[in-house]
Amino acid sequence: MRVVTTIEEMVHERSQWTQRTSSSTVGLVPTMGYLHEGHLSLVHQGRKEHDKLIVSIFVNPTQFGPTEDLERYPRNVKRDLEMLAAADVDIVFIPTATAMYPHGFVTYVEPTGPLGTEAEGAYRPGHFRGVATVVLKLFSILQPDETYFGQKDAQQVAVISHMVADFNLPVKLRIGPTIREADGLAMSSRNAYLNADDRAAAAIVYKALEVGRCTFDDHRGGDPQTVIQAMVHTVATEPRALLEYAEVRDPNSFLSLSTLRAPALLTIAAKIGPTRLIDNFLLHDNGKWDTGIRVQN
Ligand code: AMP
Repeated sequence: MRVVTTIEEMVHERSQWTQRTSSSTVGLVPTMGYLHEGHLSLVHQGRKEHDKLIVSIFVNPTQFGPTEDLERYPRNVKRDLEMLAAADVDIVFIPTATAMYPHGFVTYVEPTGPLGTEAEGAYRPGHFRGVATVVLKLFSILQPDETYFGQKDAQQVAVISHMVADFNLPVKLRIGPTIREADGLAMSSRNAYLNADDRAAAAIVYKALEVGRCTFDDHRGGDPQTVIQAMVHTVATEPRALLEYAEVRDPNSFLSLSTLRAPALLTIAAKIGPTRLIDNFLLHDNGKWDTGIRVQN
């Protein structure tokens, strides 16, 4: 495994692959590091499906708001590299912020409409502008054939798929299921912020999604408010949780649904103590739920 820290070296390395074997395929897993089994599930899938696999680690400053956790975002590159070497990754790309956003950087990609301004977009203004911009940069530097994202960040998936379609980008998106702890909590680097009491309380988000899913199934064709209220009430049973939103949206456009039909996304953001968590369940077109995968104790 090689660790590449400059864009120049990465572009050179990538062009060598093309010159050597034009038929070999390249997979990419973009991350912000502090890796867990959610990330690794994408890495393992990418490893199986491609000749070459690149994992990027970059805590992207442009996707953090001024009052958010950029400075204290958890980092442990040494441990990340051990995990990625064990997963047989070819290249880990770890650019610096000044290389990605040099003096004079002026061009950003910004999703418009509900995708950019509602749900996460409403609570994190500018977040998806930062995400889309950095992902487009990674695509143009690394030129992957396929790139792996987690369903955990459902709005990010929708933003990136729209960007790929809108800009005719020659890359295919692969979406992996949300990997969860045994009690249902979605794995996240930010779970490291949770103290013991908050960690126990954090399972309420998954419980609320479960209640939302059952309510949805009992009221297909009905009013989404029934499902929303069921999720709101469930989160309210946990005193350590402060709900930001519980919604039923179209997973592609992110418009709020007016009736309970497939496809649909149940999506929740809540603060548990100081830690902000997001999670979702996806109802596919075919009427089947994707609720993620729970690891065993
Ligand atoms: P991050 O490092 O948080 O930017 O995440 C990097 C990628 O891993 C994103 O595509 C995430 O959606 C994905 N990811 C994060 N947590 C999980 C999880 N629990 N299960 C599956 N994928 C995840």
